Formats: sequence, C-alpha cells, structure tokens
Amino acid sequence: MRPLSDVAGMQIEILNTGTELLLGNTVNTHAAWFGRELFKLGLRISRQTTVPDGDAIRDAMTESCDRADVLIVTGGLGPTSDDLTREITAEVLGLELITDEASLRSLENFFALRGKLMVDANLKQALTPVGADVLPNPNGTAPGVYIPPRLNGVSSCAVFLLPGPPRELYPMVHAEVIPRLRALFGVETAHDALELKFTGIGESDFHQGIDALLAAVPGLEYGYCAHIGEVDLRLIGPPEALQQGRAIALSHFEKFLISDDGSSLEATVVRLLAEKNLKFATAESCTGGLISSRITDVPGASEVFTHGLITYANAAKISLLGVSPAALETEGAVSEMVACQMAVGALHASGVDIAVSVTGIAGPGGGSPEKPVGTAWIGLATKGSSATAFKVFHPRNRLDFKLAVSQAALEAVRRKLVG
Ligand code: ATP
Ligand code: MG
Repeated sequence: MRPLSDVAGMQIEILNTGTELLLGNTVNTHAAWFGRELFKLGLRISRQTTVPDGDAIRDAMTESCDRADVLIVTGGLGPTSDDLTREITAEVLGLELITDEASLRSLENFFALRGKLMVDANLKQALTPVGADVLPNPNGTAPGVYIPPRLNGVSSCAVFLLPGPPRELYPMVHAEVIPRLRALFGVETAHDALELKFTGIGESDFHQGIDALLAAVPGLEYGYCAHIGEVDLRLIGPPEALQQGRAIALSHFEKFLISDDGSSLEATVVRLLAEKNLKFATAESCTGGLISSRITDVPGASEVFTHGLITYANAAKISLLGVSPAALETEGAVSEMVACQMAVGALHASGVDIAVSVTGIAGPGGGSPEKPVGTAWIGLATKGSSATAFKVFHPRNRLDFKLAVSQAALEAVRRKLVG
C-alpha cells in the first residue's frame, strides 16, 4: 500500500494536555477530531503528543516548536493551579504575559450573565503573550491564543493554545483556527478526497485485486481502513485521479460498495428506503436493538422506520411476532425457520414493506457443536413474497458479535433494496 503523504509538506503537530487523558479516564478524542478536520483542508497531522497537566508541557512544547511549522495545544487554559499552558508557552517562547483588557471584560461579563462572582483565580485566564492574537471563546471562560511565527524573533513555529472542553474547542477551531491555517498554508479550497465504503469483502481482497492498479494512477494517494464488516478505501488527489481510482475500485468490487461519499451503511439503507418510498421494521434478538439504534442514528429515519421489536425471550418471539412454539421446540430459536417467522411476524405486526430479523448465539455460553457461539440467522421478509434467511458466523466477543450481525443484516436489506 502506498502511504498517504503530507499534501502540503508542512509539519503540523498536536499537543494534548491533561492528566486524565493518560489515566484512561478520558479518551483523547481531540486527536482524532483534529485529524478529520485538518484532512478536510488537505492537511495532515505529522505528530501527536499527549502529556499530563503541569510542567511536562514544557519539554514537549520546546521539542515541537523546534520541529514543526504549526503547533496546536489543547487544554490547560483553565483557572486552576495545574492549568499552566499559557505560562509555560510564554516561558518557552520568551514572551511576556500581560492582561488582555478585552478578555478580562468578557470574563467579567461571562460571570455576570450567570449571576456568579468571578474569583481571582480566573484573572489569569485573561493573560496573553504580548503581540499574540486572543481567540474569543463564546462558550466558556478561557480565551484561546494564537502566536504567529517569529513573534519572539526566533521560533518559526505558529502556536495555537486552545481550551480542552470539546464544546468550547470545536467552535473556536472552526471560527478562529481554520481561517488562520488556510492563510498560513495557502489552502484555497477543500482538498479533493473520496471515501468508498465496502462490505462483505476483506482488506486483502483489495490488496490482491486493485493495489497495483491504484498505484499506477498518477497523483493518486490511497489507503484502506478496516472495521468490523467493512473496509473503507480513501482516495486523495486531483479530480481525474480520483475518478480513475473510483472506476478501478468499482470495476472490481461494485457489488460490495455501500457508498462512494462516505455515507454509513445505515444511512445508505435509510436513503434507499426513502427513495423507494418503503417502510421498514426490525425484529431483533441477539443484537438487542442495535439495528434499530443504527437506523435511528440517521436523520430522517422516521420517514422510513416504524417498528423496532426486541424479542429476546422465546415467549416474546411467540407473543409479539407469532413465532410457532413448535418451530422453537424442534428447530431451536437460532434457526432458519425461526428467523423467517420473526421477519414475517415483524412485517405483519407493523404493516411495513420490508422487515429484517436476527437471532443468534452471542456467547460465551449457549453454544453447541451444531450451533457454536457466533452463529446467527438473519431473516428478510418483504410484502407479497415468502421470507428467506441466511446464516452468518462471527465468533467474537459480545459487542463485536452484535456489530458484525447488525452489519450483515443491514447489508442484506441494502442488497434487497438495490436488487
Ligand atoms: P477547564 O477550564 O475546564 O480546566 P482547560 O482548557 O484547562 O479547561 P482541560 O482541563 O484540559 O481544559 O479539559 C477540560 C475537560 O475537557 C476535560 O475534563 C475533558 O473532559 C475534556 N477534554 C480535555 N482534553 C480532551 C481531549 N484531548 N479529548 C477529549 N476530551 C478532552
Ligand atoms: Mg483544566
């Protein structure tokens, strides 16, 4: 696989600060979020570092400022004694800190509006290195800071100091950071990229099938990302290269394509149902409602989705879906016959056009030689035709099993809809 290179050739580093990030209390979602946001501009993060609150920031910042063209620091702008990002930045870059009057007024305003008294600890949040830009924070107390390259006459690294809480950080990045990055890097338009999602096929199939062909397209960069039941192909480059790359992928694997615009499988299913003006319901056992949950993650799901029936116990399958006790007795709950009866039952109970059912053995107990843990049956019923079911086998932990089975069920619905 050809590695994705740095489009702009510039080094952008992210420094995430916070003891909680290293104790495992908080997942460092900022790093991934920045990766996605910057990628939209055609920019890549060259390195990401996480350090605990306090003095550890000093070394990390000194190294990054020597190496990078842009350093984005998150966290540590709060009022408490471990919030030292401002102070350490001023020290590392040899800049004097002064109180920014506008920031001070906006802090006082922030507290007055909430009927609270501002304590002295908050005063330091108005401190700004001389000559730096203050980045307003309409969603919190800590303003951000932008230190342009060579403000101290030496360091050519541009530095952003940004607040830790996501609801403060994200709007500030969009309003204040991205316009400055565009100017620094001369980014006129969003970078051209395509994400094609496939299911029912593995990464190695791509490797064997189209790697060499993609590598031969001039200017095309590509990469794969494998998830449970899904492989995403990223294409980056000029429009002609993207079209060539897309054509190569589709000529080999079109029947496995979920979407060519980055849409999820569930979003694709909702879109197809809406286009065909069809209503949809689910009858879930082993996935415990995950299929319904994924469908209702999609805006507009209410147009197409009417019922999500979770029938975990046999009694629920009988009373809500009309599954026959005899089928449960002779075939077992995890069987082709019960999956079909569940799908038909959901179709009748809800009056929809298409229903999917799942019944399986998540484990760790409950398996047998004929039906080992990881076995699931997926049923499909559509108005006016007899139900069908197929078996899948995903011997994984319970969460991954549920995800894999929900993926297979949604993919079965997608295939039914596209014929
Ligand atoms: P505060 O005024 O809240 O102290 P701050 O700018 O000092 O703001 P932090 O104390 O570092 O920011 O973080 C505040 C909260 O924001 C954290 O408790 C955490 O919930 C969230 N947070 C910080 N950094 C990250 C991160 N990298 N990923 C996800 N969440 C984060
Ligand atoms: Mg803090």
